Formats: sequence, structure tokens, C-alpha cells
Amino acid sequence: MTKPAVASEVISYCTACKMDLNSVIVAMKGDRIAKVQCFTCKKEHTYKAPKGIDTPAAKPKRASKKKAEASADHSIEVEWEKLMSTHKDAPLKNYSAKGHFVLGDKISHPSFGDGIVGKLIYPNKLEVIFRTDLKVLIYAGVQQTMN
Ligand SMILES: [Zn+2]
Repeated sequence: MTKPAVASEVISYCTACKMDLNSVIVAMKGDRIAKVQCFTCKKEHTYKAPKGIDTPAAKPKRASKKKAEASADHSIEVEWEKLMSTHKDAPLKNYSAKGHFVLGDKISHPSFGDGIVGKLIYPNKLEVIFRTDLKVLIYAGVQQTMN
């Protein structure tokens, strides 16, 4: 196989004719064909590899954005699921700031959904584990066992 050289024939895509055509090399750049003259239109143009043998389908692989989405909230959901199954038989109480709750109570909150009382914070706060977040809610406080 002879190396391409000036004045030798080569098939090049002609931008004027818009097809692969026999051309003559008019300029080289190192081992690469720099310029050709189209036999058909006689125009000189930079050498372009014939479209016919172009490498097929340059993969339009769009790099999917790596979602660096932190799974920070994942652990609380796992915890929540565990608690919900542990306390699945506990009655679901509707949350109310005036309600009385104890540790392990299942609470239904209008905004946060169902949760479990994980901690009582003296004197009137509850730490409730909801599916997606931990919330501190107000409640009536430690139930009086008078009377
Ligand atoms: Zn041409």
C-alpha cells in the first residue's frame, strides 16, 4: 500500500459536490492529506474522509449527570420502617398539641404523615420519627396521673 502523496488520487468527501469523489492530493501535512482537488468540480478543498467509510454513529452518549444525591435521609427511613413494624399493633393517634403521648406512640400528623414518638423532651416536646424527617412537636406534656 502506497502512502498518500501529492498528485496521487484519493477518494475524499467533496464539500462542493456533497459526495465522495475521486480527488487528487494537492497538499500533505506530514502523513496526513491536507488538501485535495476534486476531479468533478475542480475545486480545491481540505481533505475530508469519505462519508461512506466514516466511522459509524458517533455515539451520542449523553453523560448522565451523576446525581450526587446524598442518601442522608435514607437512614431515617430505615429507622422509621423498623419502628413502624415494631409498633404496628400500636393504635395510631392523631397528633394534637394538646394531646398526651408516650414513648413509642404512633402519631398521625396532617403534614408529616405517620410517625413514632422516639423521645420525650421535658416538659412538653416530642421527638417524632417520621418517614423522611425527625420532627420535634409540641404536646400537652407528661400526662398527669392524678385523680
Ligand atoms: Zn467536487
